[in-house]
Amino acid sequence: MDNSTRRSFLAGAAALAAAPVAGSAAAALATPAAAFASAGATAEDPNDLPDYAPIPPSSLGKPVNSLGYAVGKVSRNLYFVTDTDYLSAFIATRDGVVLLDAPPTLGHNIQRAIDEVTKPLGLPNKVTHLIYTHHHSDHAGASSIFGKNIARIGHSETRRLLKRDNDPKKPAPEETFDDHRTLHIGGERIELHWFGENHTPDNIYIHLPGHDALVLVDIAYPGWVPFSNLNLSEDVPGSVAASAKALELPWKHFLGGHLGRVGTRRDVQLHDAYMADLNIEVRRALTTVDPTPFYAKYGANAWAAVKHHLNYVSSVAAEPVIKKYLGRLGAVDVNTESIAFALLESARLNQGFEMSVHD
Ligand SMILES: [Zn+2]
Repeated sequence: MDNSTRRSFLAGAAALAAAPVAGSAAAALATPAAAFASAGATAEDPNDLPDYAPIPPSSLGKPVNSLGYAVGKVSRNLYFVTDTDYLSAFIATRDGVVLLDAPPTLGHNIQRAIDEVTKPLGLPNKVTHLIYTHHHSDHAGASSIFGKNIARIGHSETRRLLKRDNDPKKPAPEETFDDHRTLHIGGERIELHWFGENHTPDNIYIHLPGHDALVLVDIAYPGWVPFSNLNLSEDVPGSVAASAKALELPWKHFLGGHLGRVGTRRDVQLHDAYMADLNIEVRRALTTVDPTPFYAKYGANAWAAVKHHLNYVSSVAAEPVIKKYLGRLGAVDVNTESIAFALLESARLNQGFEMSVHD
């Protein structure tokens, strides 16, 4: 924001404080309901939904079977299982199966996928270990179907949060770690790392050196942009930095926990490039968009002014990034504005970007 824009921002804020409520357009309408309807604040019409760009074919995974899942090899005895929305993984060892997350949308299809893989190979099909990536129910909520007699492993904060959530479908891990733990199960080496808060305080990196693979959930999705508000990140700077930390480890195969396919280093690099571009555009839009019209329009309704100002900044920031990545990342036209919003709030709240101290 240059000085004149900053002055107009302050003028807008001052006008907001001084605006007489009765002078607003909404107040002139007969009823609050009429004002609500006139503002277009009605629910979305399910019979008139917007269209979006087609998903690039390269973003899609293996088609699911009649039961609603697809299973496939990542490398050696590491397999992924997906329903096209969620993706988890398992290692079929000589001593039993190590499961990496148990999403409830996959539910009992996880065991079906394990059976499909292990039976022809003559390997045991029993899940003996379940490693949680983090405490969220959408990745952990089918844990209890594997019974009480398995080893559940996770970060110490995952244990605390699962005890707090107190949901019998996702029992807290008995075996925990804080920064790093190496597991040797059925002849396989599994490295668990916690590199700081990102999507959640407890989200970990599961590195499988013998499989050249990394499991890092709810950060980057191969072939797609993140979900709304940057995957509902609890720590936006941590989430933004997480993909670069992932790339510091040696691996070829990337499992992101969502959607239908396994990724590569290129997928994570593309995610990083998209996020970096969006971050630049967010900062540019925050400095160039004139907030005055929003404050002039909404007068004393501070939240309306802020809402429409920041939504507009998000849309201005998103526009060139959507154009650049259309056809390269799925749903770039669906979620980029909302991801821009998460980044702009983080720029303001974490870095104090464009927040000047009053004279
Ligand atoms: Zn999550």
